[in-house]
Amino acid sequence: MSDKTLFQKIIDREIPATIVYEDDHCCAFNDITPQAPVHVLIVPRKPIPRVGDAVAADQAQLGALLLAAGNVARQLGVDDRTKGFRLVINQGADAGETVPHMHVHLLAGRPLDWPPG
Ligand code: AMP
Repeated sequence: MSDKTLFQKIIDREIPATIVYEDDHCCAFNDITPQAPVHVLIVPRKPIPRVGDAVAADQAQLGALLLAAGNVARQLGVDDRTKGFRLVINQGADAGETVPHMHVHLLAGRPLDWPPG
């Protein structure tokens, strides 16, 4: 049985997804249940389970995730300074974490309430 995470299988093209961006550290694809007109998941190739499990050796991966998020926003044309976008990382049940492979949600294309639900 494979120990790969769901997102590792997407990165390895074993499960289909609409991949919108890739670089050496990250892969980004459309969320299967979008919560906004633009809803992309930016995922490190290294399967860090969640942000609280990251260690100093993951520093480059973590930095690369934010750089990738900016690249994805530019690429999708949602980096407009007026409208903008939101980045979200969920950890644990209260936050709604469902996939134990760290990822950044990029949401855009509609007004996003604050505080979040
Ligand atoms: P989180 O709840 O923060 O762990 O986020 C997991 C996200 O993965 C959710 O928004 C799901 O809709 C999304 N998701 C689950 N399965 C897939 C899939 N096969 N392809 C794309 N996104 C998925």
